[in-house]
Amino acid sequence: MTAITPDNITVPRKLPEGGRINLVGLTRDQMREALIAAGTPERQAGMRVGQLWQWIYQKGVTDFSVMTNLAKDYRALLAEKFTIARPEIVTRQVSSDGTRKYLLRIQGGHEVETVYIPEEDRGTLCISSQVGCTLTCSFCHTGTQKLVRNLTPAEIVGQILVARDDLGEWPKPGRHPKIETRLLSNIVLMGMGEPLYNFENVRDAMKIAMDAEGISLSRRRITLSTSGVVPEIPRTGAEIGCMLAISFHATTDEVRDRLVPINKRWNIEALLNALRAYPKLSNSERITFEYVMLKGINDSDEDARRLVQLIKGIPAKINLIPFNEWPGAPYERSSNNRIRAFADIIYKAGYASPIRTPRGEDIMAACGQLKSATERARKSRAQIEAEIRG
Ligand code: SAH
Ligand code: SF4
Repeated sequence: MTAITPDNITVPRKLPEGGRINLVGLTRDQMREALIAAGTPERQAGMRVGQLWQWIYQKGVTDFSVMTNLAKDYRALLAEKFTIARPEIVTRQVSSDGTRKYLLRIQGGHEVETVYIPEEDRGTLCISSQVGCTLTCSFCHTGTQKLVRNLTPAEIVGQILVARDDLGEWPKPGRHPKIETRLLSNIVLMGMGEPLYNFENVRDAMKIAMDAEGISLSRRRITLSTSGVVPEIPRTGAEIGCMLAISFHATTDEVRDRLVPINKRWNIEALLNALRAYPKLSNSERITFEYVMLKGINDSDEDARRLVQLIKGIPAKINLIPFNEWPGAPYERSSNNRIRAFADIIYKAGYASPIRTPRGEDIMAACGQLKSATERARKSRAQIEAEIRG
């Protein structure tokens, strides 16, 4: 399988807008260099980065003229050379359960979806990392959409900024709301795309999400979900350090090969070995095993027992996801009784086994339903087979 990585796909790192560079998504070093190139004295550049990060990520400012702690001339210089741009909202839908789905337009006219899920004790933003996906998990709607390209760090962070704009969550000057009361308190990389096939951009964006002068979310409030790109798992621990979720979905290689074809490249054993080595695992920092419940495919009592055997020794929670249907999907959701019986076996073996309530189903915002309307191009059968063969 040819992995599409930032090395072999053209990724616009900056949004040129009248020749201006978008400051959103630049690492501290990149912003420092850009400021120096624009005429900022070197000895001031580090401090200016901190000030700009606070305006951009903590106050949500998009206009240099309101940056009152910067000299007027300097503000004018910044406005001439830079922008603070977000993806454009094409549509915004609100579900009867309060879930919000944004369809965003990014450079090149491509579209991605972002979903905000309010819960009692938190508000979670489900972020996309690619337009489409190179992988072809057979139960996933995104998997039927061709990969168009990786998202840039600006486009990944931009999803957070757009959601905070829409939630009206920028603090009044001088007020810093506690994380517990934030509307957007958690991030899951569970939207469109495989985040570990866009590692560097996802990493740079999450560093901004975690930075005290950035979005300022603890790494424990960020969960990256992967279908199992084994070689990138150690780097995820070392370079991002966020929580990990694994799209496990099957308890034998035979079934997992069919559901999550990347399993043909890195099988269950290879995946579990990588997870056992993931840093900082403990009872308070557990790996989430996502398990989609597909009627008659992976939902037997035997599967449940095999699952707990397989993950023995790994601090884990198992998240059971009732299959979310989409037009033309080749599977059905397991019955509620079946899901409960499965959950029961896992629970008795000592694992938390929450059943994920589908959110935003009425607006096709639930897990695995995302697929941008303008990117309907389906993969050809030959392409899917080639990807599966690897
Ligand atoms: N590409 C990454 C992250 C995006 S998918 C990954 O595969 O992990 C987020 C989660 O939704 C994954 O666990 C995925 O397997 C699951 N999912 C995909 N399609 C689904 C569907 N139709 N119903 C329920 N869950 C689905
Ligand atoms: Fe891609 Fe994840 Fe969907 Fe698989 S489940 S096709 S990896 S988005």
